[in-house]
Amino acid sequence: MSDAPIRQPKQRYERQPDDPKWLVDAVRLHGHLGPWAAAGLRVGQAALSDLDCDGYFDIRIDVSGPIAKPPPRCIVDGLQFATGATLGKDSIHIELAESFEIRATNTTTGQSVRYRLTDGFLEAVSKMSGHAEVEALARRVAREPFDRLAARHE
Ligand SMILES: [Zn+2]
Repeated sequence: MSDAPIRQPKQRYERQPDDPKWLVDAVRLHGHLGPWAAAGLRVGQAALSDLDCDGYFDIRIDVSGPIAKPPPRCIVDGLQFATGATLGKDSIHIELAESFEIRATNTTTGQSVRYRLTDGFLEAVSKMSGHAEVEALARRVAREPFDRLAARHE
């Protein structure tokens, strides 16, 4: 048996003092800090709260949009981390579509809620370039009022 240390994936991220713990923890899964993952985290957090879910076992996520590849597909990791709905448990489902929609369902009550990303967010991510700008936008998305990022609709 080898006693070499277990190899861990290396993140491309330097924690800043006011990064919240949930963001730091999510980056451990995702590997870097980007606005799409941050958007998924915020929407996932809102879904748990809006549907009064515990997460992991009582929530299903259906995410659709032009998310064939990263960076937009990074939203999937944010949603998984924030809700505990995961690919492995078959509780998050991804569909390619022209516009973004995230539907969350409380699988205990059957109640669901849908979210759209705002034009302001979509415009901001379309303009960003370079590592520093990407991280700065992610930190903004992590903190800004939710209605600047996404809107609920029934
Ligand atoms: Zn990413």
